[in-house]
Amino acid sequence: MRIGYGFDSHEFRPGIPLKIGGITLPHDKGLGGHSDGDVLLHAITDALLGAIAAPDIGALFPPSDPKWKGADSVIFLREALKRVREAGYAVANVDSSLILAAPKIGPHSVAIRTRVAELLGLHGDCVGLKAKTPEGLNLENAAIAHVVVLLEKSSRPKKKASKKK
Ligand code: MG
Repeated sequence: MRIGYGFDSHEFRPGIPLKIGGITLPHDKGLGGHSDGDVLLHAITDALLGAIAAPDIGALFPPSDPKWKGADSVIFLREALKRVREAGYAVANVDSSLILAAPKIGPHSVAIRTRVAELLGLHGDCVGLKAKTPEGLNLENAAIAHVVVLLEKSSRPKKKASKKK
């Protein structure tokens, strides 16, 4: 069994789409960044990579590389998931906290959890999502994500992983 933890933050910028958890939310600002700025998928990606002690998202997909400009963060998540599977693990569950002043996440919570579960090959009840406002943090123009993941040994490890035994 392995545990992984991921953190990310992005600044809101006007005039760009707001992507959180692989879906686009209606809002007048989006999250800036070299990729599509999906703060939740970035934190999940780092949690998955951290759980298997792999290089982090910034090392695998350097912001300095023009290849990742405007990239769909689903690409990063899929690479992390592939590495998890190659290491002989399967994702058991994910829990996350989002901290942002706006928009309200509640109305979109099911859609985000459903999309994240789909991306990870999990049931919806294996993806937790809590949204908090940044009370007392003076972070009105940023979105923050904290994520933990639990991995368990895969019942059908891939060849690479079975060699380790
Ligand atoms: Mg990020």
